[in-house]
Amino acid sequence: MDDRGDALKMKRHDVLGVPVDLATMSTTLHRAREMLAGDRPCLVVATNPEKVVAARRNPELARALREADLVIPDGIGVVLAARLAGHRDIARVPGSELMPELCALAAEDRHPVFLYGAKPEIVTKAARLLQQRYPGLEIAGTQHGYLESERMPELIEAINASGARMLFVGLGSPRQELWMVRYRDVLTGVRVCQGVGGTFDALCGHPRRAPALMRRMNLEWLYRLVTQPSRLHRQSALPLFAVRVLQDALSRTGRARRL
Ligand code: UDP
Repeated sequence: MDDRGDALKMKRHDVLGVPVDLATMSTTLHRAREMLAGDRPCLVVATNPEKVVAARRNPELARALREADLVIPDGIGVVLAARLAGHRDIARVPGSELMPELCALAAEDRHPVFLYGAKPEIVTKAARLLQQRYPGLEIAGTQHGYLESERMPELIEAINASGARMLFVGLGSPRQELWMVRYRDVLTGVRVCQGVGGTFDALCGHPRRAPALMRRMNLEWLYRLVTQPSRLHRQSALPLFAVRVLQDALSRTGRARRL
């Protein structure tokens, strides 16, 4: 069952029961323009093997992904899983690359943006860097990601009063997805709300993104593993993901042969 409204849908595939949209960077940007022309806040979340495994263990995260308007294929693992199931019209859309693309679009079409998440000095610096990189970009406001929950009504009021049309939420997963689903209905002016994880930190160079060659070879996950060994427990999900996807593909092939 697809929980999204009727409008603005992209074809969706299930990877081990967790949704991913059959998207590319160009179809994603096309959809973002449609969302900006729409009349309600649309949620854009990212998925990758780590998140698929997390969502299988966390029903609230799984529900948030199903309720999102767009689930971008952030990791190469989910792209390969969809291709193995016969889908060709999908390519990696890293959330950390989509965010700057959306800022370029916002600068061009004059959509104010709001940044919420990360440490105070990071979110302020990220806003400054984005304004330098995209002249004309209007930063409607920023808020660090360590605000007490009692102060959420204040934050929502500030976002609504700021006139922001795009909201980037960088609280890490699943915190950001749960926040987005919880507050979407009270965001009156926002049309595109993207969960961006650690992108504000990455923009400020902490930690650095993988070198371009590794990114082109889809080895960003390996770079992260080597440079941030503290993430090892999160990435231990990857072999399990690969085994389950292959089992799934083999059982599908078996079923098709029997028919
Ligand atoms: N963060 C936050 N509030 C919190 C916890 C985390 O704003 O209560 C921020 C943290 O400062 C960092 C981001 O969330 O900027 C998490 O980054 P990570 O790389 O872990 O996210 P991922 O993309 O892997 O989900």
